[in-house]
Amino acid sequence: MDDQKTSNFANHITSTIDESTSDIPSIWFESEDINDADEPLLPPLLEASFRQWAEQATGIALFQSGEFVLFNKEARELAKAGQAAAMNVAEREDVLNRVVASVLNNAEMHTFETDSFFAAAVPVRRRNDGAVFSVFAFISTAGSNHASEAVHMCGLHFNQCFYRNFEMLYVRDLLLQQQRSEKDASRRNELFQAAKLLYDQIDVSSVLSELLRSLEELYPSSEVHLYLSQDHLNGDPRVKPLVFKNAEHDLVAKAFLNGKSVTEHNRDGSIRLAVPMTGKQAAYGVLCMSIGPGKWDERDLPAFMLLADTSGSAFENAKLYEQSNLLINELRLINELTKRLNQSLRLKEIFQFATSELLTIFEADFCCVLQLNKEKNQFVVMSSNFPDLTSEKFSPEYGFCGMVYRTKEPLIISDYWHTRVVTSKLMDNTGSRSLIAAPILVDGAVVGVILVTHKASNFFSYDNYKLLQVMSTHIGLAVTNASLHAEVRRMVITDNLTGLHARHYLNEQIQTRQRIDPFGSLILVDIDYFKRVNDTFGHQVGDQILIQVSNIIRSSIRQGDIAARWGGEELAIYLPGIRAEQAYRIAERIRLHVEEETAPIVTVSCGVSEWTFENEKISVESLFYRADMALYEAKNNGRNCIFVGKC
Ligand code: GH3
Ligand code: MG
Ligand code: MG
Repeated sequence: MDDQKTSNFANHITSTIDESTSDIPSIWFESEDINDADEPLLPPLLEASFRQWAEQATGIALFQSGEFVLFNKEARELAKAGQAAAMNVAEREDVLNRVVASVLNNAEMHTFETDSFFAAAVPVRRRNDGAVFSVFAFISTAGSNHASEAVHMCGLHFNQCFYRNFEMLYVRDLLLQQQRSEKDASRRNELFQAAKLLYDQIDVSSVLSELLRSLEELYPSSEVHLYLSQDHLNGDPRVKPLVFKNAEHDLVAKAFLNGKSVTEHNRDGSIRLAVPMTGKQAAYGVLCMSIGPGKWDERDLPAFMLLADTSGSAFENAKLYEQSNLLINELRLINELTKRLNQSLRLKEIFQFATSELLTIFEADFCCVLQLNKEKNQFVVMSSNFPDLTSEKFSPEYGFCGMVYRTKEPLIISDYWHTRVVTSKLMDNTGSRSLIAAPILVDGAVVGVILVTHKASNFFSYDNYKLLQVMSTHIGLAVTNASLHAEVRRMVITDNLTGLHARHYLNEQIQTRQRIDPFGSLILVDIDYFKRVNDTFGHQVGDQILIQVSNIIRSSIRQGDIAARWGGEELAIYLPGIRAEQAYRIAERIRLHVEEETAPIVTVSCGVSEWTFENEKISVESLFYRADMALYEAKNNGRNCIFVGKC
């Protein structure tokens, strides 16, 4: 032992000495000694050593004739053995006090003898510096023959017994330390294994299961609960949501909020321990363990905290992994959706595709995509998997569509039955309870609304809601693209002045129809003496006449007929599935209306031609050629009349 003023065996000196182990080989610690700081702790060791010495010394003569008494450095009697001297208590005490005090003062053996008694005391010394730390005394009324020498020998014997016990204690201390460090090492190893296993788990459920399994193995008799701050209940009854009831008194809440472990000692000796599961970014929950009386070793706390921290990090890793997987999945879905949306430039197709994709992505029951018709100021259902709603029209104030239109914001309804903020035909007719909705925005204006529903309540997550918002942006872009494309196409196929189709569009359409129809007719309309109109009234009036005639033509034909500006002041009408006689009648109607309705009045001449599947050669050119020929005839026949071309 070194000289520092701390005790090296303070923890063990009070423990019982194993008296059966007496033969200890001389080894290096023989040079170890007690120091001043050990002295207050010595009495138990002195008493035990004295008992041991007495057992060994019972055979000697002095043992039968007198009493051995052991004192500490403060002259307090610690133990006695042998035959009590035949003298009264006060006298005995007085005699012993005298000899002991002398030894303590002089550090030498002292004897005190009268006719009636013999007393002797020897110092018990430290082996390194010879300092006295105890006094070994003898008192007898049976004579003093060679007693001094014998007491001295007994004192030395006792000193040896004391040091033997001291060495044993030292060895015991070492052994305990070794056992403890072995236990710590094995626990650290178990923890390391548990931590390693935790890190191997990549999904949250497995992390939780592994954590509970490890704890059960490490603390078999305890009751373990896991309180999670995030909604991840994996069906295990030991995993519970973290609810803040009374943060002041609630052990779990306290541990979570302070980020520190909290121990609660119960009256019966059992304890409750709450340790936060902390990752790098946040605390994810609290590990709570109830341990029976006497089962908890305070030194396990750091290990327990390490496991909780490890599981916090593992939980965080697993969460991040799950989140990044979700994100990758979302990006993949968005990418896929955008790719497929961009493949189509037709609005109807885009809406239908979006509907079917959204149903799959969100595992939803119903989806409905509405488009705003600005002219009529109403939403029209463009696509839905609920047949009742197909082509249904709603006012822009109605239902959830109206809400989204007003706010321009996405919407999530977890239970329509309980939060009936508006009446919704979609929700009512489909029996849906959950809804996510998002606007389709083009240049910041709502052009449509997407509604996705499910019959179960609380079906859609916040992530679903965010994803729909992102997807609606992409659907909006596809709608913009398609609308622009439609607009460009409309411009390309429309004549600016008259609003009729352009010549190339008419050509394309006739070609297409000739492939699918059995017959069709063409009317060429040419304004009579138009040059004169221009010359008389000016070009602008001429333009107005052209517009008037075009309007008359438009209102005189069916939806499927195609009217176009063929060139200059010549107009053409293709009538699919119409024979020449009927085309003649239509031309006649136009001619009459022009004559009656134009101002200044103009007349038109018309040439009509037809084709049927029986024709040898069906072509656009031939159809036009014959109509042109007929028109030429009409002009030659005094104008303001109609001629039908021959096949
Ligand atoms: P007709 O057909 O009866 O034989 O006599 P016309 O005077 O109509 O004869 P023509 O076909 O030779 O003249 C066509 C005129 O139409 C020539 C041109 O000044 C005029 N025209 C062509 N396109 C336009 C147009 O876009 N606006 C105006 N104002 N006039 C046009
Ligand atoms: Mg003309
Ligand atoms: Mg002309």
